[in-house]
Amino acid sequence: MDRFESEIKRLDALRPEELEKWIDQMKGLCRCPGCATYTECNAKSRELLYCYLGKSVGCDMQARTCDCPVCKVTDELGSKYSFYYLNGPEKVLRE
Ligand code: SF4
Repeated sequence: MDRFESEIKRLDALRPEELEKWIDQMKGLCRCPGCATYTECNAKSRELLYCYLGKSVGCDMQARTCDCPVCKVTDELGSKYSFYYLNGPEKVLRE
């Protein structure tokens, strides 16, 4: 079991309020808004944490750059992919 798998197992066992707290913490580390791909539409929908919460819904995003490899959330989660806003969350990409 790698870091991502053990972290997902831990997160799945959290109470809803604990998970919300973790999500809020990770949103604070998320680099998505600084990415050239992130649009006004994404900001308006308050989209963040695509690697965990899933890809953008309803916003047209042109793949330009991706800061995921240097994002602290990548270290926290143990993720290995990127471009989650287009491809979906790490959990789905590993299926
Ligand atoms: S790894 Fe990528 S999608 Fe996940 S929080 Fe960081 S910048 Fe956002």
